[in-house]
Amino acid sequence: MPEGHRANENEAWKILLYYQYVEIENPEEFTYHHLRFCKQLGLKGRILISKLGINGTVGGPDEACDAYIEAMRQDPRFADMQFKTSRGSDKTFKKMFVRTRSELVTMQYHEPMDPNTEGGKHIEPEELKNLYDQDEDFVIIDMRNKYEADIGKFKNAIVLDMENWKELPEIVEKELMKYKDKKVVTYCTGGIRCETGTVLLKKKGFKDVSQLHGGIHQYVQKFPEDHWEGELYVFDERVSLKINDKVLGHCFHCETSCSYYINCTNVECNKMMIMCPACRDEWNDGCSKECSAKPRPKELARDR
Ligand SMILES: [Zn+2]
Ligand SMILES: [Zn+2]
Repeated sequence: MPEGHRANENEAWKILLYYQYVEIENPEEFTYHHLRFCKQLGLKGRILISKLGINGTVGGPDEACDAYIEAMRQDPRFADMQFKTSRGSDKTFKKMFVRTRSELVTMQYHEPMDPNTEGGKHIEPEELKNLYDQDEDFVIIDMRNKYEADIGKFKNAIVLDMENWKELPEIVEKELMKYKDKKVVTYCTGGIRCETGTVLLKKKGFKDVSQLHGGIHQYVQKFPEDHWEGELYVFDERVSLKINDKVLGHCFHCETSCSYYINCTNVECNKMMIMCPACRDEWNDGCSKECSAKPRPKELARDR
């Protein structure tokens, strides 16, 4: 897990988040060339390539990101790929990775899933906002892990007791079947988890399933103050993006309102938890007395 850092609007790098479900015939070869291309541009980040498509988040100076977008758009497979943007720095990612995987988001479900033909209906941010504004009868499900939703979520969203996406099939059985006849809207960070998540819901018999197109990223860029509460968790060194002034999280030790994630100072424990500045000092970033007494070795120390 990344260390705590609050993203700043004025930071110098542009960060892109994107995916496309589209056939990539020779993923290994594509991966090889794509890595070279990204390095040439001076980008850093993480990209997964599979036979089914691409899922990436990269960052770089604005010109490098714009050149990347333009080059991708030249390829008919990615001509209409949606790029979500935010700000970051050269510290947002440590390196540039491009890797071949069998799935873009690992669920390991026993049946094949085709988001292009079996997924939920895509709804735009405006449509979700209307559902709220007009007080429609709908169930909104946060398809992310619980620790992501703990610092920010849509109003009234159902948060799953989930630590890893692979648990979704089991969680649906345990927590969600009671909503299968309702109008259901799902959302996640940038939309990709909902692509297979809604396929799963439909296979389980859900009748009316929609997914928020472009995810939270796209929505909060349009409506930062409407129906979204708190921060947006991101899977890089920034940890979270501040969206509005609501604070949903609570300090692990004292319960004060706070949304700042750190990892326990004891490297062997490394527990991820929210901690307020006062408790960070008092507990030396530890989750317990035992861990507080085992500070991180100097070479693993972090910026505070
Ligand atoms: Zn505290
Ligand atoms: Zn600990």
